[in-house]
Amino acid sequence: MTSELTRLSASDTAAAVSRGEVSAVEVAQAHLDRIAAVDGQVHAFLHVDNQGALAAAAAVDAARASGAGLGPLAGVPLALKDVMTMTGVPTTCGSRLLEGWRPPYDATVTARLKAAGIVILGKTNMDEFAMGSSTEHSAYGPTHNPWDLDRIPGGSGGGSAAALAAFEAPLAIGTDTGGSIRQPAAVTGTVGVKPTYGGVSRYGLVALASSLDQAGPCARTVLDTALLHAVIAGHDPRDSTSIDAPVPPVVDAALSGDVRGMRIGIVRELSGDGYQAGVRQRFEEAVEILTSLGAEPVEVSCPNFPSALAAYYLILPSEASSNLAKFDGMRYGNRVGDDGEASAEEVMARTRAAGFGPEVIRRIMLGTYALSAGYYDAYYGQAQKVRTLIARDFAAAFEQCDVMLSPTAPTTAFLLGDKLDDPLAMYLNDIATIPANLAGTPAMSLPAGLAPEDGLPVGLQIMAPAMADDRLYRVGAALESALVDRWGHHLLEEAPAL
Ligand code: GLN
Repeated sequence: MTSELTRLSASDTAAAVSRGEVSAVEVAQAHLDRIAAVDGQVHAFLHVDNQGALAAAAAVDAARASGAGLGPLAGVPLALKDVMTMTGVPTTCGSRLLEGWRPPYDATVTARLKAAGIVILGKTNMDEFAMGSSTEHSAYGPTHNPWDLDRIPGGSGGGSAAALAAFEAPLAIGTDTGGSIRQPAAVTGTVGVKPTYGGVSRYGLVALASSLDQAGPCARTVLDTALLHAVIAGHDPRDSTSIDAPVPPVVDAALSGDVRGMRIGIVRELSGDGYQAGVRQRFEEAVEILTSLGAEPVEVSCPNFPSALAAYYLILPSEASSNLAKFDGMRYGNRVGDDGEASAEEVMARTRAAGFGPEVIRRIMLGTYALSAGYYDAYYGQAQKVRTLIARDFAAAFEQCDVMLSPTAPTTAFLLGDKLDDPLAMYLNDIATIPANLAGTPAMSLPAGLAPEDGLPVGLQIMAPAMADDRLYRVGAALESALVDRWGHHLLEEAPAL
């Protein structure tokens, strides 16, 4: 029974706990056992909070015993990306610089998870400060893709996605600045959503690029993702960019899955060359399925999308160089070279040189350059103009369609080490995911099947207008149920056993 508990969906787990068929403590223990058994190979977790998880689960069981009503995900375990603060639990952001830092407060997302009775198992691995597409830039070693341990799990949130695919947790939290929820979901055969910018509070999320960062839900099914979305979303006065409006009806949409009459935009600029053959094949098949379910495909053009990557890699480093200035060894984490004789400035320089990895240093240099006097208008200013054009592309396209579709990533999971020495090749993974971050619009990645040439998962991306996150779930649920019917099981059942 215990090993079967880790195969259940989040909604089935919550139902079993609320009916008293299993205790939340048994569920938590089954997942902790699974982590102990397989995480030596996968390395999804940087920190496992055994005691905290069991205590949170015991509190859910006590609440149930006292007759209190349980929320829809009470007692369900979750893996939290190590970029989100949690009181007293290490938060490293995958960096040596923050080694040993235990935040004195909960992020709003963390607080909402706790209030919902969700059991936080621990903190997941990530590229350092969320910069990367493979989780290889973690200072603590890479995460391995459960489908093939020699391959990347995507990034930056590879730990969260791998934890789902390895059945170490049925729910996870990711953050997405340029694709870090969606691309890991795509290459691990899981579901991930970047909500509308401002839909989920950024309070307690360690900032990479504040105008792009958005936390979101990750799970193995569309419905589980929607249930988690509903828990973490909604206005927060502690985040000045938080939207003060009702959360879109994501759970109802996931339960409905009715796409009849919906216009599905196929983005010309995201469906041409440059994709692996099996990725294109699965994408085209998904369009056919949605059409057979009553949706109407329309071709749309977003002429400025080809400039999105270049604009992103000026805006992101600019904001990151400013956000990361606070990590100087004076306030958080490690301090290096404080020998009693060095000046404060020398200690700061030594701390930053020792604490940051090469990718973080590269981006701080790029951003500092792009913002410097004489270059600001030519680089940062120009990139901001492109950003406006991309938002206009979305607005124009959404006059012709209700959602847009594309592959999530150009290829399936590549081999560990393959792109580590070639930053541009690494950046190109995000070609299809970045436009939604620049425009602040919501997007989902869900499994579309396996690529015939390598047997690895392919992700399909669905994009919707701002505050229409529910449309992602409506289309995602329709496609998921048609595909699962066709396969006869969840895609992850085809992953090799760990
Ligand atoms: N891969 C992208 C980058 O390296 C995305 C990062 C993210 O979304 N956090 O910037």
